[in-house]
Amino acid sequence: MRRLFYIDYPQEHIEGQAHRYRCAFCKLETTTINGRLEGHLPTCDYRVALEKAGFECNRHSPIPHEDTADEVD
Ligand SMILES: [Zn+2]
Repeated sequence: MRRLFYIDYPQEHIEGQAHRYRCAFCKLETTTINGRLEGHLPTCDYRVALEKAGFECNRHSPIPHEDTADEVD
């Protein structure tokens, strides 16, 4: 099984960083993960759970579109 984007992981707000969020498990920023399963740490509970469920990392990801969270208001 394969998905284009993996964005249903639990996220938490990065303290003191206005529009920035990170994975609640591996603590990597959403802009680093960029919707990719392999964007999480190999030890991330979310990634491990999905890999166990049979999901694969995307080896040939489409061009990642820029996250606009850092845009100046
Ligand atoms: Zn993670």
